[in-house]
Amino acid sequence: MGLTTILRGFKVPIAVLDRFLVSNGVEETYGIPPSLLRIPGSSVPPLDAQATFLRAKLAAAGDANSTARIFIPQTQGQARSSYGYVAYAYVMIFSQRRIDLAAELPDQAPPGFAELRREILACAEEGEQALLQVAGMHGGEGEDDASLLYIVLTDEREFPFSRPFMRESDLRCDYCAAVFDCWFDLQNHRSDAHGVKVLNLLPDDF
Ligand SMILES: [Zn+2]
Repeated sequence: MGLTTILRGFKVPIAVLDRFLVSNGVEETYGIPPSLLRIPGSSVPPLDAQATFLRAKLAAAGDANSTARIFIPQTQGQARSSYGYVAYAYVMIFSQRRIDLAAELPDQAPPGFAELRREILACAEEGEQALLQVAGMHGGEGEDDASLLYIVLTDEREFPFSRPFMRESDLRCDYCAAVFDCWFDLQNHRSDAHGVKVLNLLPDDF
């Protein structure tokens, strides 16, 4: 199965994004969606070089707690996407979920984010201007093109059942309030400590 993400941010041609990254000494994406999986033995999911760079850049612009990431759609059997997304806020959905748009996906981009968009899109070369005008690149009247709302489906990328992608409330035991780093640890705990044995529990709200 794939990953479903709702995000706030901007859409960018992969060719332009990769040129921006390379010009800043960062490896390009090649249009390949970054992995979100934890490395076995590590409690911290890896942060790809591209997101690491974007966060450092946004921190320098005043967004010290940036959680920016790059998302790239992918569908089995189809060619690679020509576009990717730089997000400042995102929600990943495993099964079903309420979304508090104002709190989780605020339409106000953080400091430096609109400038980042301008800087990246300025890497478009002559002959690429049409790439910047396709559907989804620009919002409607009164919308900020740096903080548009998108849904991205990414095949071959799994839902990350761990922090920081999951909310703490999704990783807390309903019986004793213990909090875990990973959904599977919580399920093992529910079974071992409380005798709750439901195989492949479908989450109520994530
Ligand atoms: Zn418990």
